[in-house]
Amino acid sequence: MTWLQMRSDLGKRGAMAGAAVTAVAAAAIIFALVGRGSDAAAQSSLTVNLPPPANDRIYASPIARGRPIVVIDAGHGGRDPGATSVSGQVHEKDLTLTLARALRDELVKRGRVRVAMTRDDDRYLTLDDRAAVARRLNAAMFVSIHIDSAANPLARGASVDSLSDVASDAEAASLAARENEGADNDRAGGSVDAVLADLSMRDQMSASADLAARLVGKAAGRVELRPNPHRFAAFHVLRRADAPAVLFEAGYLSNADDELLLSNPEQRAKMVLAIAQAIEAEVAAHARH
Ligand SMILES: [Zn+2]
Repeated sequence: MTWLQMRSDLGKRGAMAGAAVTAVAAAAIIFALVGRGSDAAAQSSLTVNLPPPANDRIYASPIARGRPIVVIDAGHGGRDPGATSVSGQVHEKDLTLTLARALRDELVKRGRVRVAMTRDDDRYLTLDDRAAVARRLNAAMFVSIHIDSAANPLARGASVDSLSDVASDAEAASLAARENEGADNDRAGGSVDAVLADLSMRDQMSASADLAARLVGKAAGRVELRPNPHRFAAFHVLRRADAPAVLFEAGYLSNADDELLLSNPEQRAKMVLAIAQAIEAEVAAHARH
């Protein structure tokens, strides 16, 4: 392994959140001490905020110090296996983690960005848990990795979905509906319409579309892509990430050729390299503004 694990120098928002947690913990300790009184034998309980279920660890090479943070989200996990392959041998949650780890290692090796992962093991996370990692770390980008599945066994190829208030087609809308399963009903973020009317959300959508176009551009000719590979839909996890965010669908597990291709480490490496280059190009483009 060439990458080093480094603790995050938390961004402004992360530091504020950290301070808030510390304050809550301090208040709880004071409360517990006061509540205990002089009876040392009395049982007292200490209430603190539990650490978030997702992972805030930063992976970076030493040369990437201070570089933007990209959050890689391995879709599904734990009790949510996602799609199952035609052969029945591959679960989406395992393949997304394999791809996410390979992408992390590639990005860390190249040293142009720092990386965080929403999960690095087989655990269940809500969509909000995942998006919250990007918000806590003030991430420059959020890339969620999935593998598609369709009733049509001939459907194949990778695609990139970016956030939009209007789905580009019925299939993208139903994909978003599937991936949004289990999401809270937007109580925290207000109604979809209200959120999307927000100017920063417009910026986020446009930056997400740029990132998706860059991913398609880098993948073209190197990775099997589906027709019309850039789609738009209202993905909960993307909306809440508060950063340019895309869903990369690495292919179709419902297609035998795609299953074979995605089971091949060399083919996966090609795909991962294309994604890494697209991420770096997009980071560089934004750094120039
Ligand atoms: Zn999925």
